[in-house]
Amino acid sequence: MPMKHYDVIVIGTGGVGSAALYHLAARGVRALGLDRFPIAHDRGSSHGESRIIRLSYFEHAGYVPLLKRSYELWDALAQASGRALLHRVGILYVGAHDRPIIHGVRDSATAHQLDVTAVDSAALSARFPGFQVPEASSALFEQDAGYLLVEDCVRAHAELAIARGAEHSTGHAVRGWRYEDGRVIVDTDSAPFSADRLILSAGPWSNALLASLDIRLRVLRKHLHWFETNGYKETDGCPTFFYDTPNGYYYGFPKRDALGLKVAEHSRGVEVDDPLNDPRAIDPDELERVKTFLRTCLPGVSTRHSRHEVCFYTMSPDENFIVDRHPDHPEVVFAAGLSGHGFKMTAALGEALVELALDGTTSQPIGFLGLSRLG
Ligand SMILES: Cc1cc2nc3c(=O)[nH]c(=O)nc-3n(C[C@H](O)[C@H](O)[C@H](O)COP(=O)(O)OP(=O)(O)OC[C@H]3O[C@@H](n4cnc5c(N)ncnc54)[C@H](O)[C@@H]3O)c2cc1C
Repeated sequence: MPMKHYDVIVIGTGGVGSAALYHLAARGVRALGLDRFPIAHDRGSSHGESRIIRLSYFEHAGYVPLLKRSYELWDALAQASGRALLHRVGILYVGAHDRPIIHGVRDSATAHQLDVTAVDSAALSARFPGFQVPEASSALFEQDAGYLLVEDCVRAHAELAIARGAEHSTGHAVRGWRYEDGRVIVDTDSAPFSADRLILSAGPWSNALLASLDIRLRVLRKHLHWFETNGYKETDGCPTFFYDTPNGYYYGFPKRDALGLKVAEHSRGVEVDDPLNDPRAIDPDELERVKTFLRTCLPGVSTRHSRHEVCFYTMSPDENFIVDRHPDHPEVVFAAGLSGHGFKMTAALGEALVELALDGTTSQPIGFLGLSRLG
């Protein structure tokens, strides 16, 4: 049987790849998405109910235009899919004045005129009861922030892409890709496929598909926990939150249902060699750190554990995303190393990758995410 040929193949249809497939379908090209797992699965980096989205960006002010575009795209996707994807509940930042988070949030708010306000202790207890601000710390609030329902976002992108003509095939493990006779050949554990262009969005498995670049992405095992509580409800105005404490960074989401409040540690993480076969067990020390954080900063939440999930961060050397064209193969573009903060921007990254693949250039300012910065 002759090999099936496409205009563009997307390897990996999680957060970034489902968005890319959606934009390919919108452009009317013949596209195929390949993934080892079903749409919105729980084995990679895009699961566990929710992801924070915010405009104030302490990581690097260069992301703000991509964030603004992402907000537009998430709202458009919500409308097209009929799903409530983006919940604008705001974000409360708490940290010491001289530590990087509060500084970075203030700087990006000033540079981009964002709606970020200081919250004094009287306002805090009136507006956000149950949140403690440790001594010598301050609190900031960004109104436009909130969270995305992560699996619903992936589903919405993938399902609309398929409805608009893209093909999607799950259960195919991609073994590798090569450039041959003017086209890209993708070898899978079933049939090979070919395409004019290739988009690589393999999340924690990116090292294997970008081996010749020798980027050395580190994959970290990260835990998500849910704790029972009667308060901290989204319906009562509880926001998402991010704490910079002497014992690490902790963040979380308001209670949506009987499982309670979701909370996690953003700092630390154990490096894993093989995310496919990771045991995904609870780490008692990590769980104790999270409980200590709750006792200190959100004392109204019980430490009765109602759910646990493991998910992977894929860390680039400088913890910024890597989005570029393959230096040896201009027909191959990729996004990798989203470093634990990329979901909120997957909508814009998918669009940028499609523009790079089809037009050779993108309107989005992603120059600072290029491969050359890594030397
Ligand atoms: C616990 C946790 C909390 C997070 N919190 C936030 C947050 O609050 N806000 C935020 O913006 N970001 C957050 N992130 C980061 C964000 O979720 C990730 O950056 C993003 O989801 C990564 O998307 P991706 O498309 O790169 O990877 P994935 O969604 O994992 O997609 C990669 C896909 O490629 C497929 N694949 C890979 N290799 C192959 C192969 N060889 N053959 C076939 N298929 C293959 C995989 O099966 C997978 O579906 C968090 C991440 C974690 C783990």
